[in-house]
Amino acid sequence: MSASRICIGGSVIETEPVAQRCRANKAASARRSILPVSFLGNAEAIRITLGTLKSAKRVRQNACSRSASVSPLSTPAAQTSSPIVDALRERSLGTLTDKYRSIGTVANLAVFDRLGTLPTHNFQCSTFDDAEALSGETLTESHFSRRHGCASCTIRCERLFRSLRGEEQRLEYETLFALGPLCEIRDPETVLEAARLCDLYGMDTISTGGTLAWAMECGERGLLPETRQLGLGFGRPEGILAAIPLIAAREGIGALLAEGSRRAALDVGGESVLGHAREGHGAAGL
Ligand code: SF4
Repeated sequence: MSASRICIGGSVIETEPVAQRCRANKAASARRSILPVSFLGNAEAIRITLGTLKSAKRVRQNACSRSASVSPLSTPAAQTSSPIVDALRERSLGTLTDKYRSIGTVANLAVFDRLGTLPTHNFQCSTFDDAEALSGETLTESHFSRRHGCASCTIRCERLFRSLRGEEQRLEYETLFALGPLCEIRDPETVLEAARLCDLYGMDTISTGGTLAWAMECGERGLLPETRQLGLGFGRPEGILAAIPLIAAREGIGALLAEGSRRAALDVGGESVLGHAREGHGAAGL
């Protein structure tokens, strides 16, 4: 694979060939006595950061006083625009956020693949052969349904896609990489259906994808024979779609996986990797 160039925020970055790195990572992974199990995605990082902060500050409860009235828009000054607000609005409509406005966060999948930082095959690789089939650009062409965003946001980075069954499903980058390349799922329909099931059962898509990818690697190493009976393996749509309802119901292997990869690893002999943290960017490719 030849080196490629990519433009981010006006800067051109030359990326190294990553195929060799990917092979090296797989070889190194094969030598590992223990699997990478602990998992941390961006959204979780935000949640955990707030929780950790509260814990450090010994905040046990959020409370507000009835006697104090707080209304940010109650004064004339607050209702008028300010230079800061104007600058933020202008920047939010600039080139740096263009990909999030035009394609959404799913645009990151192709970018990270080109950079060699796309978590793939339970972090054994940092590029994905079928990244184009799952890219935000392809999804937009084939499955786009609606653009969505948080209240008053000018970027509106969320996207809803429509499956061939006609169901609308929200997808962001984290869900896409965790239920896609991380599990080597190449088919957008499977990712959409897996995301739909997670939403249906109230399961976090990042943790679910990370735990399933970990189980798949355990299966490859003979640590979880139950994965074979379920057809749970890298690149196998039927396995991932069968496993999610089992996790929700805590049935069969789902009872173990419902604990998450960190706790499940204790049962299958992975204690020494519990300090590993993994993100939506494949550090292996850096
Ligand atoms: S839509 Fe929400 S998540 Fe997306 S950029 Fe705006 S505020 Fe952030």
